[in-house]
Amino acid sequence: MWRNELKQNITSIKELKKHFRLTKQEEIHFKKLVKRHPMSITQYYLKLIDFENPDDPIKKMVIPSVEEKNLSGSYDTGGEKSNTKFLGFQHKYNQTALILATNKCASYCRFCFRKRMVGKSTKEVIKNFKQATEYIRHHEEINNVLITGGDPLMLETGIIRKFLVELEDIQHLDFIRFGTKMPVFLPNRILKDEELLILFRRYAKYKKQIYLVIQIDHPNEITNELKRAARKLLRAGVIINNQTVLLKGVNDNPEIMANLQKKLVSIGINPYYVFQCRPVKRVKYNFQVSLFKGIKIVEEAKTRLSGHGKRFKYVMSHKTGKIEILGIMNYEIYFKYHQAKDPKNSGKFFKKKLIKTACWLDELH
Ligand code: SF4
Repeated sequence: MWRNELKQNITSIKELKKHFRLTKQEEIHFKKLVKRHPMSITQYYLKLIDFENPDDPIKKMVIPSVEEKNLSGSYDTGGEKSNTKFLGFQHKYNQTALILATNKCASYCRFCFRKRMVGKSTKEVIKNFKQATEYIRHHEEINNVLITGGDPLMLETGIIRKFLVELEDIQHLDFIRFGTKMPVFLPNRILKDEELLILFRRYAKYKKQIYLVIQIDHPNEITNELKRAARKLLRAGVIINNQTVLLKGVNDNPEIMANLQKKLVSIGINPYYVFQCRPVKRVKYNFQVSLFKGIKIVEEAKTRLSGHGKRFKYVMSHKTGKIEILGIMNYEIYFKYHQAKDPKNSGKFFKKKLIKTACWLDELH
């Protein structure tokens, strides 16, 4: 049972020390850090780490680092507070409703942009799902719902069923999305729960299309277990789109990025977005890559990819909208609104003077 596997997660520095040699200083820092931002790693994911490699990318994604002490940045980079209509429910773009269904994940990414809440407070999590369905029912412009968190596949299948039943008779809703990293952290959530697959299969066939928006950030995460889980989901009629976060020391290399997108295509997962890492407190300094470098990585990776591999867009989830980072010409960076909070900006194309060290729109003049 997948729940029992979660009980074996590494959550304390004492347990971490059984696997990694830590200096006294690191131990002191990490103990403080995990009190503020919890650590949790499934045994399955831990096994993907090469313990001989101090720069292992999987390790960097889930093990605390002293660099997290750097507090530059913000805990709400996308303006989520201002998009919240009521507890756990956001409406930023006309067509999309967003529901924060839980604050839990199978493991916690050190670069999470909802670091302020994951594994911590449930204050932002939806309490009244009916209120969400009523809001959607009265807003005919909404054609899709993104159920996210935390990771909604941490919820029992029975609860996911209730959500889907609530949403199924809203005529103007075309599809439902789940934002999840569960197939990556704990493939047995998919492989060992036939009930979930039956639910998805029936719903996708008779009700509405289900999309999983998953997050695979490095080729080492694509294991045989993940491949089997993806195959089962695809057979159940679920469409899987991947979003990768561009992360320093993890995938900030054209070869790794190209290899990742290639592997995704080979297992039937659609490359969807490559996200510029957000300037989140305790994340910015540790993980962000400059826009200048990001463009080079993405463009070089694309030269190694077929049309299918380069279907993704390189974007920044800014408080004003989802902005595509198009490229550089004559010392200027070109951008285009892919999704805009203010419909007046929809499709707007603009440029900024290049600053090679800038990592976010607000750092450009
Ligand atoms: S799985 Fe997603 S929500 Fe959970 S910690 Fe990682 S990035 Fe954050």
